[in-house]
Amino acid sequence: MTDSAPPRSRETSLADGSYIRKGFGLKAEVQDTLAADYTGQLVDLLRSREYTLVAGDTTLRLAKEFGFCYGVERAVDYAYQTRRKFPERRIFLAGEIIHNPHVNAKLKEMGVIFLAASGKGFDYSGVVPADVVILPAFGVTIQDFQTLRDLGCVVVDTTCGSVLNVWKRVEVYARDGFTSLIHGKYYHEETRATASQVEKYPGGQYLVVRDMNEAEMVMEYIEARAGTPTKRPALSRDAFLEKFARAASDHFDPDLHLDRIGVANQTTMLARESLAIGAALGEAMARAYGAAHRSEHFRTFDTICSATQDRQDAVVELLGEPLDLMVVVGGYNSSNTISLAALCAEQVLTFHIADPDEIDVAHNSVRYRLIGPHHAESEQTSWIPTLGPLRVGITAGASTPNNKIGEAVARIFQIRGVDPTTLV
Ligand code: SF4
Repeated sequence: MTDSAPPRSRETSLADGSYIRKGFGLKAEVQDTLAADYTGQLVDLLRSREYTLVAGDTTLRLAKEFGFCYGVERAVDYAYQTRRKFPERRIFLAGEIIHNPHVNAKLKEMGVIFLAASGKGFDYSGVVPADVVILPAFGVTIQDFQTLRDLGCVVVDTTCGSVLNVWKRVEVYARDGFTSLIHGKYYHEETRATASQVEKYPGGQYLVVRDMNEAEMVMEYIEARAGTPTKRPALSRDAFLEKFARAASDHFDPDLHLDRIGVANQTTMLARESLAIGAALGEAMARAYGAAHRSEHFRTFDTICSATQDRQDAVVELLGEPLDLMVVVGGYNSSNTISLAALCAEQVLTFHIADPDEIDVAHNSVRYRLIGPHHAESEQTSWIPTLGPLRVGITAGASTPNNKIGEAVARIFQIRGVDPTTLV
């Protein structure tokens, strides 16, 4: 892997003028529309009152960091600017701009066409050079990027800078002959795009682990090969390959490619778990081959983004207070929202709702996503006690707009018999 080809530069890989990464200078023109679509009066009120609203014996507390992050704000802004810049052209989006149903519905109303997933990327068969394609905040794989380059259409790249930082890390691992071990979800757009970066170097490899349990399988494999005793029997090579069939690079071989490992994370994972996985893998490497080997064959780098970290820190702070229940608002496929819900559920009754519409005020019922590594949903009636003092905590993932958080707050107060207009 030392005789590697230099990586392609994104900025120079598309013809001048057809690759836009910094918007069109139309921020002022789209600002009012963005504000109308996404700002929330109740959230502004919560902020002005130290993140607390009280009505009678109902107290609602909002985490101090919540909702739209810098990367999402930028991606949505650029998507609106793109529509303004090209009113007559067809505009496509590679997947979802971010994982929020309300935002994606707004883009569809603006005529943006969502490209369907196809294999490891998206189906660009209907796109012609006169079209515009927006890349989401998660980025796209290098194969998708190459396809767009070959098509010659206009590309508006909203990939978040924090995601680009992870790519750089993975690229360096691949350049130096390290397998990238990514703590993430192998099917998530961001992780697919991140993992693809290893292909910039011949022989580059990756392996995605979802959680500590999967990371332990990797550690056991490494230690068993070194003859170190493990608590659980390690998987056989075949069982390992089967287990990680969809989570590893095409030619990944655990007997060859766990020799040098570099750890990175999907930016939106539970930070605490990512750090623990990095530390545990390093320790396993040292147990297997000694500290000197570890220092040359193991690297780790925390690539959780600061927005994710800030939201997780803020919810941990909120959970330090007595709360009767937590509501977490965000798309069911939003990884950072799922991480927030998992943190809350460790300490208090938690309802992860995609949208305020999941709350039925008339019947005091809620539809919500069950916490855990599945995608099951459930419904509960009488989920808000209507009598007696109540303290509700609320937070929202990085892709949830303020107006949706505000609507959820309003519905919670309505169930408690409080007219939200009297809160203002
Ligand atoms: S969650 Fe982090 S990486 Fe993702 S768009 Fe927001 S700031 Fe960027």
